Amino acid sequence: SATTEEDVCNHVKVVVRVRPENEKEKDGKFSKVVHVVDQHILVFDPKEEEVSFFHGKKILHRDINKRKNKDLKFVFDAVFSENSSQIEVFEHTTKTVLDGFLNGYNCTVLAYGATGAGKTYTMLGSPKDPGVMYLTLMELYNCMDQIKEDKLCTLAVSYLEVYNEQIRDLLVNSGPLAVREDAQRGVVVQGLTLHQPKSAGEILQLLDHGNQNRTQHPTDVNASSSRSHAVFQSKKQHIPYRNSKLTRLLKDSLGGNCRTIMIAAVSPSSMFYDDTYNTLKYANRAKDI
Ligand code: ADP
Repeated sequence: SATTEEDVCNHVKVVVRVRPENEKEKDGKFSKVVHVVDQHILVFDPKEEEVSFFHGKKILHRDINKRKNKDLKFVFDAVFSENSSQIEVFEHTTKTVLDGFLNGYNCTVLAYGATGAGKTYTMLGSPKDPGVMYLTLMELYNCMDQIKEDKLCTLAVSYLEVYNEQIRDLLVNSGPLAVREDAQRGVVVQGLTLHQPKSAGEILQLLDHGNQNRTQHPTDVNASSSRSHAVFQSKKQHIPYRNSKLTRLLKDSLGGNCRTIMIAAVSPSSMFYDDTYNTLKYANRAKDI
């Protein structure tokens, strides 16, 4: 098939998911500061002029004590509103790179955002409403099944977390593992175990097992969210974040022939005004990588 520009260029796809307000955010002390305009545009801290009628005349007035709204318009590859489903997010993110992945591209998906913004929900979800990781793996198995006559596919999986600058294997009991740069293989985590699941079911069992081993595992009801960064790899696939160990792990996937998807998660509420503003600014810069 013809090579298009898309095939040769590295491309970072940046999407934003706005989660629904929680009970605390809804209780009246806070307002919504994220307005999703359409599938690509959102406005942060929109200007809302109060309209009142005085003697039949329409008067626009502003509270002079109120700080000025930032009223910032952002454009992303996709914007998912509070009502978006896991499947919608999957279809506009990892599903779009599976083809490239099966043709040899390194693909990375990373969830970025403040604690409580919805990263774990988006990536893992719940048994009732599984997230991007689950949906991606099911689709990957479907694709591999469809091309099994033409191509030999082997799938190997490792799962690690970076927590307090230490790397641990989540699929076996291990101490801290070291990162080395290998001339042939690029960045490698020494001693990280590789597993070869035979089916989508088995891969999900591994994922589940790994999640139980996380320092703050997502099913722990006391942990409102996880402070560890889990990296689940299919071949050379990474799911990343912010600190230096992670940056080293990501070196491979951020250069070379790779497709990267960044899912920025935000709360719609003024309760997280600064977090959301920072996440949106970061996500906006990431479009240019
Ligand atoms: P993070 O991993 O970024 O710290 P979580 O994914 O744990 O945040 O989300 C915080 C809370 O909000 C959880 O209770 C989660 O179930 C809920 N939540 C997050 N995103 C959504 C969503 N899109 N729809 C419904 N609930 C969500």
